[in-house]
Amino acid sequence: MMIAGELKCPKCGCEMVAVTYKEKEYDANFLETGRVRIAVDNLSCPNCLYVQCVDGDFMATPWKWED
Ligand SMILES: [Zn+2]
Repeated sequence: MMIAGELKCPKCGCEMVAVTYKEKEYDANFLETGRVRIAVDNLSCPNCLYVQCVDGDFMATPWKWED
């Protein structure tokens, strides 16, 4: 999955691609709520392979019930 972004690679100026993963939601008791979201693990440059770590909440989708 790719999320279009405005972020450019600091090394070559190419547009960065978001590397995403499915994150499970836990309640206050650390039990799975059954909801998931797509969160961003890092941004990578498809041109020079530069990787930039980002906050997990960065560009994450809203929580929703898993299909
Ligand atoms: Zn680059």
